[in-house]
Amino acid sequence: MTIQQNIQALREELNQHNYNYYVLDNATISDYDFDIKLKELIQLETENPQFFDANSPSQRVGGEITKNFETITHKNRMYSLDNSYSKDDLLDWEKRIQKMLGVDEIEYTCELKYDGASINLSFEKGKFIKAVTRGDGFQGDEVTANIRTIKSIPLSVSADFVHNFEMRGEIILPIDGFNKMNEDRLKNGEEAYKNPRNTASGSLKLQDSAEVANRPLDCLLYQVVTDERKYKTHFENLETARNVGFKVPDTITLTKTIDAVFDFVNYWDIKRHDLPYETDGVVIKVNNLQQQEELGYTSKAPRWAIAYKFKAEQVSTVLNEITYQVGRTGAITPVANLEPVQLAGTIVKRASLHNADQIEKLDIRINDTVFVEKGGEIIPKIIAVDLSKRPDNSEPTIYATNCPECNTELVRSEGDAKHYCPNEFGCAPQITGRIQHFISRKAMDIDGLGGETVDLLRKEGLIQNYADLYDLTAEQVIPLERMAEKSAQNMIAGIEKSKEIPFEKVLFALGIRFVGETVAKKLAKHFKSIDKLMTADLETLISVDEIGDRIAQSIIDFSNDLGNIQLIDRLKLHGVQLEVSAESLENQTDKLAGKVFVVSGVFHQMTRNELKKAIEDNGGKVSSSISKKTSFIVAGDNMGPSKLTKAESLEIPILSEQNFIDIIG
Ligand code: AMP
Ligand code: ZN
Repeated sequence: MTIQQNIQALREELNQHNYNYYVLDNATISDYDFDIKLKELIQLETENPQFFDANSPSQRVGGEITKNFETITHKNRMYSLDNSYSKDDLLDWEKRIQKMLGVDEIEYTCELKYDGASINLSFEKGKFIKAVTRGDGFQGDEVTANIRTIKSIPLSVSADFVHNFEMRGEIILPIDGFNKMNEDRLKNGEEAYKNPRNTASGSLKLQDSAEVANRPLDCLLYQVVTDERKYKTHFENLETARNVGFKVPDTITLTKTIDAVFDFVNYWDIKRHDLPYETDGVVIKVNNLQQQEELGYTSKAPRWAIAYKFKAEQVSTVLNEITYQVGRTGAITPVANLEPVQLAGTIVKRASLHNADQIEKLDIRINDTVFVEKGGEIIPKIIAVDLSKRPDNSEPTIYATNCPECNTELVRSEGDAKHYCPNEFGCAPQITGRIQHFISRKAMDIDGLGGETVDLLRKEGLIQNYADLYDLTAEQVIPLERMAEKSAQNMIAGIEKSKEIPFEKVLFALGIRFVGETVAKKLAKHFKSIDKLMTADLETLISVDEIGDRIAQSIIDFSNDLGNIQLIDRLKLHGVQLEVSAESLENQTDKLAGKVFVVSGVFHQMTRNELKKAIEDNGGKVSSSISKKTSFIVAGDNMGPSKLTKAESLEIPILSEQNFIDIIG
């Protein structure tokens, strides 16, 4: 045997042992013997560096340090899931999709909803290439070195499977492993981790991959994404993926009726407590991939899948105190401070009370015994008061009248559920919060500057608003506590770089009330510059698709404020993008204005996403279902048969990919 063959044989053998142990849960070698073979491999690899392979089992021990995780745009967006909470919700969902597909019988897969952090694993020619977190769904962080240490993930698979694909899955911490980690922490006098999900998610961003290697993380896979259409169903995709070595839980079940879905839900609602990992629900998916494609996506989630959330667990405990938090918009949130209690595996000390109405409606009082529930969200909520335990001297709660941070009198406008602190420019959490929002990833995405530093800079009097960021110098920042020269420079460089962030994100970053990401995109596209937006009147604003009175009024209020006008002027002077760049305007026309397109099938010259973008860039609208409002269908190969029938019956013109390309030139 040559050295190379020897190395190869050892790698294969160790991979097989890893697979047996971590995927099949069936050890075929003692730890001791495994270590000996691994050492042997490491030695051979060290002596023969020409045979280095990032996917060798020797690389699983980690040791690579990542200081800054690179942001990567997902090739295919990672969506969230719509939620359902009752069987009626599920029946409604089935009705909707039956109608869209024009069929009565739909085959589903039922899977558990694994509670961890989502991950996207890219494979090329069967080799593991990179791992990226979900992030905001459009882009995430590359965490390849850390993910490589998770031994149940195969680093190469048989080329018989599709060649290029992404595996989507959930990084989880099994409950046993999590408890063990906490025992160790407590022994070392450290604070225990709160829950498996957050700990799993935090592990992905550890800088030292050797530390990740020491954590008992696992990866459960639930979706194959590929352009190669080798298999016709989701179930086949996953079964095959399991056969080539991926850890696809075998709880996945194929069902032919919604009743069978209910059976699955009922079974796991009870049995979930026996699982080695946490699950908070079930995910139901349309099995046929062609049908999935026909159903498409809403702006947030696939229409072909839905999560069913198990009823949350409840406990009762005593409410000790109500405190008030001030958000970046000045919104006040009342917080219940509770007698600590164990709930769904974690210790709960606080719960959200939402707003004054909620407190009044439930008549929540200090010293009451309350029922606390924990759903998927991190902060639990109070759902009722146990009146039988109410103390005799109890008094109704009087809601805060003044801001807990700056003592300004709170206001509450007509129709608003929340109280607000109106001291926008003088109330510390609002100042900090706005700047924190400004720098956040979906906004200006400023590297090298974190939320805590923003607070520090404000306390030191260096910044009062987001425009001040652009006046900061490294010399001002270096003397601050815990600020090394290098990090100060990174921060200034990050701020400088944010001047390239496109207008739509800048608009979102400004933190105009009710102007979220999607609205900001719409506005940027329509008005193309901050000046046009800020001088638009109410009528012009509400004439924009999906902009209502509430958003329009908020934009007008923002635009009429002298302080804001000055801020915007300063941002402009600093070169922040306050209009759509010439470059992106260049590719935009109004050719397709007023036209609604449905895209269906498989394309060759452009990807589906490029096609959709081309429609939008030329002023058209993309919709995912055919209706009377549809102007054209762009059909690739294998357009869904029910879509075709529907298009024909509504007499909607069908364009081929080439027709479309000819039209937009
Ligand atoms: P949510 O974060 O509530 O919108 O739920 C969507 C997330 O559920 C996805 O991003 C996945 O990370 C996660 N998930 C867990 N189990 C599954 C599953 N079996 N199928 C699809 N998504 C799942
Ligand atoms: Zn205040």
